[in-house]
Amino acid sequence: MIPKRHGPAKRLEVIDLAACPDCAGQGWTRGIFHDIKCNTCGASGMVSKESGEALPAEVLVLQLRLRLNQRDRRLAQLESQQNSKGGPHQDYIGMKNPAGIGGGNWTGD
Ligand SMILES: [Zn+2]
Repeated sequence: MIPKRHGPAKRLEVIDLAACPDCAGQGWTRGIFHDIKCNTCGASGMVSKESGEALPAEVLVLQLRLRLNQRDRRLAQLESQQNSKGGPHQDYIGMKNPAGIGGGNWTGD
Protein backbone atom coordinates (compact mmCIF):
# COMPACT_ATOMS: atom_id res chain seq x y z
CA MET A 1 0.00 0.00 0.00
CA ILE A 2 1.15 3.48 -0.76
CA PRO A 3 0.75 5.57 2.40
CA LYS A 4 -1.63 8.47 2.03
CA ARG A 5 -0.03 11.85 2.28
CA HIS A 6 -1.49 15.10 3.39
CA GLY A 7 -0.91 18.54 2.05
CA PRO A 8 -0.13 19.38 -1.55
CA ALA A 9 -0.17 16.31 -3.76
CA LYS A 10 3.26 14.91 -4.22
CA ARG A 11 2.96 12.73 -7.22
CA LEU A 12 6.52 11.74 -7.73
CA GLU A 13 5.99 8.29 -6.27
CA VAL A 14 6.03 5.59 -8.86
CA ILE A 15 2.63 3.94 -8.93
CA ASP A 16 2.61 0.31 -9.97
CA LEU A 17 0.85 -0.08 -13.26
CA ALA A 18 -0.64 -3.19 -14.73
CA ALA A 19 -1.78 -3.96 -18.24
CA CYS A 20 -5.46 -3.19 -18.64
CA PRO A 21 -7.37 -6.47 -18.30
CA ASP A 22 -10.03 -5.46 -20.83
CA CYS A 23 -7.76 -4.64 -23.74
CA ALA A 24 -4.66 -6.59 -22.62
CA GLY A 25 -2.65 -3.40 -22.55
CA GLN A 26 -3.45 -2.44 -26.13
CA GLY A 27 -5.65 0.55 -25.31
CA TRP A 28 -8.06 -0.47 -28.03
CA THR A 29 -10.45 -3.30 -28.50
CA ARG A 30 -11.48 -4.76 -31.80
CA GLY A 31 -14.94 -3.68 -32.79
CA ILE A 32 -17.03 -5.06 -35.61
CA PHE A 33 -16.14 -2.35 -38.10
CA HIS A 34 -13.22 -0.61 -36.51
CA ASP A 35 -11.13 -0.58 -33.36
CA ILE A 36 -12.74 1.01 -30.33
CA LYS A 37 -10.99 3.01 -27.66
CA CYS A 38 -10.91 1.01 -24.45
CA ASN A 39 -13.11 2.66 -21.81
CA THR A 40 -11.57 0.83 -18.89
CA CYS A 41 -8.14 2.37 -19.29
CA GLY A 42 -8.99 5.41 -21.42
CA ALA A 43 -6.89 4.01 -24.29
CA SER A 44 -3.71 4.09 -22.23
CA GLY A 45 -3.58 0.31 -21.95
CA MET A 46 -2.68 0.68 -18.29
CA VAL A 47 -4.45 0.66 -14.99
CA SER A 48 -3.28 1.06 -11.44
CA LYS A 49 -2.04 -2.29 -10.22
CA GLU A 50 -3.44 -1.61 -6.81
CA SER A 51 -6.96 -0.47 -7.65
CA GLY A 52 -7.32 -1.95 -11.13
CA GLU A 53 -8.68 1.38 -12.29
CA ALA A 54 -7.47 3.85 -14.86
CA LEU A 55 -5.33 6.70 -13.55
CA PRO A 56 -6.28 10.28 -14.29
CA ALA A 57 -4.50 11.49 -17.41
CA GLU A 58 -2.18 13.93 -15.61
CA VAL A 59 -1.09 11.23 -13.16
CA LEU A 60 -0.61 8.72 -15.91
CA VAL A 61 1.49 11.11 -17.98
CA LEU A 62 3.81 11.61 -15.03
CA GLN A 63 4.00 7.88 -14.35
CA LEU A 64 4.86 7.18 -17.96
CA ARG A 65 7.39 10.01 -17.90
CA LEU A 66 9.10 8.47 -14.87
CA ARG A 67 9.22 5.11 -16.60
CA LEU A 68 10.54 6.62 -19.79
CA ASN A 69 13.28 8.38 -17.84
CA GLN A 70 14.20 5.09 -16.18
CA ARG A 71 14.33 3.32 -19.53
CA ASP A 72 16.42 6.09 -21.04
CA ARG A 73 18.90 5.80 -18.21
CA ARG A 74 18.95 2.02 -18.47
CA LEU A 75 19.43 2.20 -22.21
CA ALA A 76 22.27 4.70 -21.85
CA GLN A 77 23.86 2.37 -19.30
CA LEU A 78 23.56 -0.62 -21.59
CA GLU A 79 24.93 1.33 -24.52
CA SER A 80 27.96 2.53 -22.58
CA GLN A 81 28.59 -1.04 -21.38
CA GLN A 82 28.29 -2.25 -24.93
CA ASN A 83 30.72 0.37 -26.17
CA SER A 84 33.31 -0.31 -23.49
CA LYS A 85 33.16 -4.04 -24.09
CA GLY A 86 34.03 -3.63 -27.71
CA GLY A 87 32.78 -5.95 -30.37
CA PRO A 88 32.38 -6.29 -34.09
CA HIS A 89 30.84 -2.83 -34.41
CA GLN A 90 34.15 -1.29 -33.38
CA ASP A 91 35.78 -2.57 -36.54
CA TYR A 92 33.55 -0.19 -38.42
CA ILE A 93 34.17 2.93 -36.42
CA GLY A 94 35.93 5.52 -38.54
CA MET A 95 36.24 3.10 -41.39
CA LYS A 96 35.25 3.92 -44.92
CA ASN A 97 33.44 1.32 -46.88
CA PRO A 98 36.33 -0.63 -48.43
CA ALA A 99 34.10 -1.90 -51.20
CA GLY A 100 33.35 1.65 -52.32
CA ILE A 101 30.05 3.34 -52.81
CA GLY A 102 27.35 0.78 -53.15
CA GLY A 103 29.74 -1.97 -52.08
CA GLY A 104 28.49 -4.82 -50.00
CA ASN A 105 28.64 -5.18 -46.25
CA TRP A 106 29.40 -8.88 -46.42
CA THR A 107 31.96 -9.86 -43.80
CA GLY A 108 32.39 -13.48 -44.78
CA ASP A 109 30.30 -15.19 -42.16
ZN1 LIG B 1 -7.98 -0.99 -21.64
